[in-house]
Amino acid sequence: QKCLTFIKETSFLNAYITVTEDIALKQAAEADQRFIQGKPLGELDGIPVAVKDNFSTKNIETTCASKMLQGYIPPYNATVVEKLFGQGAVLMGKTNLDEFAMGSGSIDSIFGPVRNPWSFSKTYREKKSRSHQVAKDDSDWVIAGGSSGGSAVAVSAGTCCVAIGSDTGGSTRNPASLCGVVGLKPTYGLVSRHGLIPLVNSMDVPGILTRCVDDAAIVLGALAGHDPLDSTTIQDTFQPLKLPENVDVSNLCIGVPKEYHAPGLSTEILSVWSKTADMFEKAGAKVTEVSLPHTPYSIVCYHVLCTAEVASNMARFDGLEYGHRSPTDDSTESMYAATRREGFNEVVRGRILSGNYFLLKQNYEKYFVKAQKVRRLIANDFLQVFNSGVHMLLTPTTLGDATSYLEFIQEDNRTRSAKEDVFTQCANMAGLPAITVPAGISERGLPLGLQFIGQAFCEQQLLTVAKWFE
Ligand code: GLN
Repeated sequence: QKCLTFIKETSFLNAYITVTEDIALKQAAEADQRFIQGKPLGELDGIPVAVKDNFSTKNIETTCASKMLQGYIPPYNATVVEKLFGQGAVLMGKTNLDEFAMGSGSIDSIFGPVRNPWSFSKTYREKKSRSHQVAKDDSDWVIAGGSSGGSAVAVSAGTCCVAIGSDTGGSTRNPASLCGVVGLKPTYGLVSRHGLIPLVNSMDVPGILTRCVDDAAIVLGALAGHDPLDSTTIQDTFQPLKLPENVDVSNLCIGVPKEYHAPGLSTEILSVWSKTADMFEKAGAKVTEVSLPHTPYSIVCYHVLCTAEVASNMARFDGLEYGHRSPTDDSTESMYAATRREGFNEVVRGRILSGNYFLLKQNYEKYFVKAQKVRRLIANDFLQVFNSGVHMLLTPTTLGDATSYLEFIQEDNRTRSAKEDVFTQCANMAGLPAITVPAGISERGLPLGLQFIGQAFCEQQLLTVAKWFE
């Protein structure tokens, strides 16, 4: 009830596309009964959760924030949704995002942009000499980050304890960092993608947004493991994580990648980053500078690989099977074309076009194959560092605190992503686990985050250290 009240009170943040009030009340009542009988289904029994609107939910509209899927009611649940329900979680609703998760601000949605709740905090308003009581249609607010902005805001505003996002180039970690919550991108293959409407199949992972690292560990335990419906998932059963109460970091070697001193890095982030490195050193850990030399190629490489997969993935939206269908019926081809022109926004259409260009017979080797090779080099950089005895990396998550909406919309989607994803994208290229943890408040009164990048399938170690820092 409290979560539903918060959802209503904060509806101007635009975090939710669909609020599943009836389902939530029913599930909560059932959870109550199980508690009375002393038979909870699992650790998430009765826990309010929100799910990004690019995960299929049976009998609940799933839109990807696109006109193309408006009105689409999936006949099945994504595996992560099935697992949440299997543990008794209570679904509060489906959260807002950039159309088909293409973006890093959660502003390119047919349902309108997501607002960062910190824009309305007393400190931020006072610093800006604005009254705390702002008009709901005020455009003077900061972005939530993206593309899982709705999920980050849902947790940050207290409307749920856990939200599921997706992370292809940073979409869970970026908004988590800008909204002051924990954002975990698990190792590729640890959590099933079945029912997650794909952006880049070879990089997508379901992400977990929570208030603290312990919660993220519990949720990961509930979601991880082999899924016969996703052939890229691990074969072994996953041992739920147990984070120790008292963490000793003195045997740890933390790498600080020198390439992450990127242009545009704010002095505030730089300062929390170096203070945190000092803190680890004081606690006995070894902190060492490392090099990931192919980092600067990541953004361009991602663009080629992402658009190529997008061109292929978006082919299914033809007006026949799902969602939108244009009334144009001169021919099947003209119906396809009109449906796609009307259904997709400019960002999606642009990526389809770029991807098809990179995949042309004469361009395939030059762009797509080359980008695959660069991707391998990026992944090998990490392997080399980890093989040298470094346990994990400590990096910023974003260049600075949240940008104002008015400033953010001055640039096109691609330029924005290039700036927002510099520190997060490489982990997707390499399939590695990474977590962002709140690390302080900026002078403007907005959250700052730091990221830990771990070795594949070493979530236990990654989350233990993140918890120590938290
Ligand atoms: N910003 C990147 C993009 O637009 C990554 C998005 C994501 O992780 N879903 O593709």
